[in-house]
Amino acid sequence: MTDARPDFPMQVSVEQAREGLAALLPTPGTETVTLTQSRGRILAADLTARVSHPSATESALDGIAARAADTLGASAAAPVRLRVVGESRAGVPFSGTVGPGECVRIYTGAPLPPGTDAICPVEQLREDSPEQVLLTRPASSGDVRQEGSDFRAGEVVLRAGLLLTPPRVALAAALGHAEIPVRRRLRVALLSTGDEVIEPGQPLRAGQVYDSNRCGLQAMLEECGCEVLSLGHAPDSPERLAQAVEAAGGADLLLTSGGVSMGRYDFMRDLLLERGQVIFWKVRMRPGGPALLGRWQGLPVFGLPGNPVSSLVVFRVIVRPALTGQLEPALRLRAGTPFRGLSDKVAYWRGVLREGQVDAYEKQGSGVLRSLSEANALVVVPEGSDVQVGEEVEVMLL
Ligand code: AMP
Ligand code: MG
Repeated sequence: MTDARPDFPMQVSVEQAREGLAALLPTPGTETVTLTQSRGRILAADLTARVSHPSATESALDGIAARAADTLGASAAAPVRLRVVGESRAGVPFSGTVGPGECVRIYTGAPLPPGTDAICPVEQLREDSPEQVLLTRPASSGDVRQEGSDFRAGEVVLRAGLLLTPPRVALAAALGHAEIPVRRRLRVALLSTGDEVIEPGQPLRAGQVYDSNRCGLQAMLEECGCEVLSLGHAPDSPERLAQAVEAAGGADLLLTSGGVSMGRYDFMRDLLLERGQVIFWKVRMRPGGPALLGRWQGLPVFGLPGNPVSSLVVFRVIVRPALTGQLEPALRLRAGTPFRGLSDKVAYWRGVLREGQVDAYEKQGSGVLRSLSEANALVVVPEGSDVQVGEEVEVMLL
């Protein structure tokens, strides 16, 4: 019945699926967290540099600071001699002024003393006496880091909406922030389904499979800043499924795994049709085609296919960008093997990065779980095009 004349769109594009899900999610409020709590959160406001970096013009390496004009033409055959009048250490600058024919010993990150404009690295120095050095190369301004050359006080350096990765946490600290405004975490309820799916650690009978999706999805959700409400597992029964879905009340999204395909025991879609709303079913992608979006009394419900490879791919391609509001920057690499395109779907082949190119992972069956570890990339092949060896392909890192 529903397959013949569905009153919801079927075979939507990946972009439509992503936008459809994003449109159902609430706009989260803001809270303030410390730097160490900020990893994996989404920045809620632009972060301005409170200081300049470097905070003073400084040396990029260990050596001597001098006047470039005094050292012109210095070479191993004709070294230039300078008088050492002091030193500048990181945190302990030289207090005087450096005159013609003079230099100070300087170390990485130490301020350049007044009067100097260039650095000669320690590898190019010959020690003559404690007070004198010979330069076998001219001192260069290239090894000087100008004050504010990285960022200047007042400049916006991190933009609202960015995911706070570990390097960005470090940058926020360098900008002078100890506390950071972040978006409140979206609360995502997580439910896996299937009569054959059992809890890891239990004895496994033939035909059963450990629930790998729930812990995998929980980890992926936490990685993108969500709070996870784990609802456990429901068997393939419409009533039990409905009870489990009821338990998700209060969440911003219910993410389910399994039960969205065409099988007789795939109840998710009918459940939403009868007691909620289906917004779309099926996305023009492989793996992961049967993904489902709907609503249950105001609660957005996204149904991932149960297959662990499919659920990972759909999570990465649709759910994660919708939750974070960010698309991964496209990475393009040379194909080391051919990648087949599909006439009416985007294909996401698992790949392995090798020496600057990407090769197809040898076993592409969507039931090959070890590929979750052994493949480290998804190769995106648009509808209706094949990729030949040597051509560039779009790659997402796993
Ligand atoms: P389904 O989408 O329910 O038809 O499931 C597709 C395949 O994925 C079947 O082989 C299931 O046994 C498997 N599967 C479903 N749910 C899970 C899960 N939570 N963890 C691991 N495998 C699953
Ligand atoms: Mg199932």
